[in-house]
Amino acid sequence: MLIKRGIAVSPGVAIGPALVFGADSFRIPQRFVSIDAVDSEIARFQMALNATCEEIEVNERLASERLGAQYAAIFTAHLMLARDDRLIQEIQGLIRQKSFSPEFAVSRVLRQYARRFQNLGDKYFSDRAIDLFDLEKRLLKHLLGERREELSHLTMPVVLLAHNLTPSETAGLDKRFIMGFATEVGGHTSHTAILAGALELPAAVGIGKFLADVSGGETIIIDGSHGTVIIDPDDETLAKYRASEERFRSFSRRLESLRQLPSETQDGVSISLCGNIEFPGEAEAAAQRGAEGIGLYRTEFLYLESQKEPTEEDQYQAYREVLRAFPTQPVIIRTLDLGADKMPGQLRIDYPAEVNPALSVRSIRLSLQHLELFKTQLRAILRAAVYGDLRIMFPLVTTLLEFRQARMILGDVIEDLEEQGVEFRREVPVGMMVEVPAAAILAEEFAREVDFFSIGTNDLIQYTLAVDRGDPAVATLYRAGDPSILRLLRMVVNAARKHQIPVSVCGQMSSDPMFVPLLVGMGLRQLSVTPHAIPELKEVIRNLTIAKAERIANRAETLDIARDVENFLRGELKKICPDSVQ
Ligand code: PEP
Ligand code: MG
Repeated sequence: MLIKRGIAVSPGVAIGPALVFGADSFRIPQRFVSIDAVDSEIARFQMALNATCEEIEVNERLASERLGAQYAAIFTAHLMLARDDRLIQEIQGLIRQKSFSPEFAVSRVLRQYARRFQNLGDKYFSDRAIDLFDLEKRLLKHLLGERREELSHLTMPVVLLAHNLTPSETAGLDKRFIMGFATEVGGHTSHTAILAGALELPAAVGIGKFLADVSGGETIIIDGSHGTVIIDPDDETLAKYRASEERFRSFSRRLESLRQLPSETQDGVSISLCGNIEFPGEAEAAAQRGAEGIGLYRTEFLYLESQKEPTEEDQYQAYREVLRAFPTQPVIIRTLDLGADKMPGQLRIDYPAEVNPALSVRSIRLSLQHLELFKTQLRAILRAAVYGDLRIMFPLVTTLLEFRQARMILGDVIEDLEEQGVEFRREVPVGMMVEVPAAAILAEEFAREVDFFSIGTNDLIQYTLAVDRGDPAVATLYRAGDPSILRLLRMVVNAARKHQIPVSVCGQMSSDPMFVPLLVGMGLRQLSVTPHAIPELKEVIRNLTIAKAERIANRAETLDIARDVENFLRGELKKICPDSVQ
């Protein structure tokens, strides 16, 4: 049994067989073969080994002819490994004695050696570990041949393990077959993590290197509430997690009963809880969870989940689907936040290596540079607006000029629609995300021109603290409780109050029960959150008074380091909701 710890991003427990989704998407289909198939399986392994050796010999010859003998030496080393008697005996031994499938045995043996080499902490040996992974890949290619499977071809439930999953890959996960996932990289508010919450899949990210320890097919436990991955658990651990899986289910069932109750404090102040969604299909589920509207629809996922560019009609239909779930409540459509890690195939920007994509052309900057793309989306939004209380929000606005430009383009689109006699709504509120420190600092100026603010703490924290939100190496520095973040929140809330415009928080911070008393105490009366968090947040709100929340906020704002702020807030939450699962 092996226990690995990372970052908890989506609660719940998943227990099932591992599917390793590597860069080559190999899936080891079965762990065991029947006893009578052992001889034919060993023959299959032998054939794959012969084919692999032939392939390496060809590579060796070509490298020697084209590049010189010193380059061919790489392949000579691979060949030596492939012909190593001890390795071959060990693999055949596992097939014969343990009835392991050849794929599983190859992976098991080669990875075990690779891991030992890696642990020696020496450059020479880490290179040998890479050779072993390379050999594994070649052998698996020959063994699996056409049977190589991709995520879209799953037929049974698995726990997905990967180095990384892009937001598009995560968006494409089929909930019928994926029970949960864990990745080596990724941070607390990476888009992959956010999607895990949207799909309600238990997930942990930022585990660090662990794929070398898994071949596929082993039993895996993912504890998404604590960020733990357990490989090959023993019986006692398995029983313990089955019990906690059940506890989580009954906790969720209990919270379900809060669905119809109003989201208001004990002294009767209503705190509106809206949902954040990525796909139109989630709107109905958000309504079921008790969302009072959609506070953030991340429309870029329409681009990320499909191979071809969505048309105006595709977008219009998607927005209408959301409005069907919320025909009278507010639905805030955020215009495309593409770029950086959210890069669709159809619109690839190849950022030069020396450029930081998070500071480059992304989001509203990208829309303003691709006016056709921007206008197409705005047309779809304005047409759909006829069917409900739709509002438009621009992401990553940094300067007033940028906001004015975006608004001007909206004006052009309105004129076009009018000229063409197309049915649409003219008066649509236009707001902005406050997710760049510059926008928070100039909140007063912005508040004079925008119809509403929505604070995107995910990016605001990243840009204020200079910490990449997806990088596990700096995950401990990424703190929503940092006093600088509290200060910026306060500035934005005060500016909104002074200019009497609505303000909400739609970053992950508002989905964390620990921060809710603070946000309410600061004066926020609207939050937009991951839909599955709504029942738990409602419970916190219903146990709170405004006076109590204000006391908590005032005290938190006197503390000068993030750890103290967060410990204080955690302690207060425990007092407010002793049953909280945190
Ligand atoms: C944010 O940055 O807080 C936000 C809500 O936007 P996203 O997570 O999509 O970047
Ligand atoms: Mg953002």
